[in-house]
Amino acid sequence: MSGATTTPETVVDVAIVGGGLVGASLALALEPTGLRVALIEGVAPDAAVQPSFDDRTTALGNGTRRVFEALGVWSAIAPAAAPIRHIHVSDAGRYGFARLEAAEHGIEAFGYVVTNRVLGAALQQRLASLPALELRRPARCTAVTLGSDAVRLETMPAAPPLQARLVVAADGANSLVRSAAGLPADVEDYQQVAVVAHVAAARAAAGIAYERFTPDGPFAVLPLHDGHYGVVWTLAPQAAEQVMAMPDAKYLAALQQAFGWRIGRFERVGQRSAYPLKLTRASVVTAPRVALIGNAAQALHPVAGQGFNLGLRDAATLAEVLAERLRAQPELDVGSDAVLAEFAARRASDRDGVTKLTDGLVKLFGDSRPGVPLLRDLGLLLFDLSPTAKQAMSRLSWGFAGKTPRLARGLALPART
Ligand SMILES: Cc1cc2nc3c(=O)[nH]c(=O)nc-3n(C[C@H](O)[C@H](O)[C@H](O)COP(=O)(O)OP(=O)(O)OC[C@H]3O[C@@H](n4cnc5c(N)ncnc54)[C@H](O)[C@@H]3O)c2cc1C
Repeated sequence: MSGATTTPETVVDVAIVGGGLVGASLALALEPTGLRVALIEGVAPDAAVQPSFDDRTTALGNGTRRVFEALGVWSAIAPAAAPIRHIHVSDAGRYGFARLEAAEHGIEAFGYVVTNRVLGAALQQRLASLPALELRRPARCTAVTLGSDAVRLETMPAAPPLQARLVVAADGANSLVRSAAGLPADVEDYQQVAVVAHVAAARAAAGIAYERFTPDGPFAVLPLHDGHYGVVWTLAPQAAEQVMAMPDAKYLAALQQAFGWRIGRFERVGQRSAYPLKLTRASVVTAPRVALIGNAAQALHPVAGQGFNLGLRDAATLAEVLAERLRAQPELDVGSDAVLAEFAARRASDRDGVTKLTDGLVKLFGDSRPGVPLLRDLGLLLFDLSPTAKQAMSRLSWGFAGKTPRLARGLALPART
């Protein structure tokens, strides 16, 4: 009797590892291509701790809203989205401040604040409507074997291995796929922790987002659709530990002291969560048969609220490159070098620009060397007086540089003929 047995494999065109905000969005964006797609997500959507769809709030830019409209999920998100119509930026304890008004730029809002749970629920609901999707969840990808024609993925709990022409790493900052593909990533620990909470204040939220820079790190108070606020308070690690351990009343008093009385007394706080902040950036975003998107490609500091918006443009661009090439060449090898090179080239300037802008803001506002805070005051004042600089900032809501993906311009992807 022969001892050799071959495990049957499930063959797909594209396997997406990580079904968080970005991976789930890519699965939806690929629908018109007619490709066979597998999505592997380690955590159940309704788990108490889902790392992508948690209690954080995310500020979605206008480009992101357009993508979600095109993917058919915005109608489920919109009722729980709070528009940001005004932004107030200040340097704590100093004179410098700047204001941005959406109406002055001819837009309804700079963006929309939504809790990640709402985003997750909307994406899951749409995913459930894709009958052809091979959805493995909860299932972890445990091994990735790269071959010249295909990639083999093993998942746990045990199921037939997947064989894909293209594997997309959407598995977050500590990406297993990125490591398996031998793609290095630079990691810079900011030595800051974001303490996140929902808070009620005497004055209900009314479309204003406050961004305050403090010596420990930036501090954002964002409007929520129910009139409450999403607070992202960045602190040095030890201070964050203390703030996490405070009883509610003490936390509210500390928050009041740090933020001031602009929205009245802080009255109640929900559960707090802490996120250590690092910049993780892969030096290149492709390897043979592998593409990195979202946090697997670059995980940013939340200071400018850009990480997810940028990651979604990775997903939208990859889907667009595939859709366009499939239209011209129905038998396309979706993991070919030509596809990957085009994806990387189209993403380069947006990715580089947003990463540098975000990192630069963290460093500029964290710099307390003599003279620097004064220069910042001046910079904020000049910014406040400069319509051109404000226009440039408001454009960030659509994307930074390079070609804006079709989906982010509200255009559908070409369907496969
Ligand atoms: C405090 C804070 C506030 C933020 N605010 C904003 C904001 O306002 N605007 C904005 O644009 N961005 C914001 N961001 C950034 C944003 O949250 C991230 O960019 C976004 O979550 C990235 O999504 P992702 O799907 O790429 O990665 P993740 O959210 O990390 O998801 C990765 C997914 O992969 C799964 N996974 C991992 N490994 C495996 C495996 N081996 N097998 C199967 N599944 C796996 C995980 O379970 C997870 O669901 C913020 C971040 C923080 C920390």
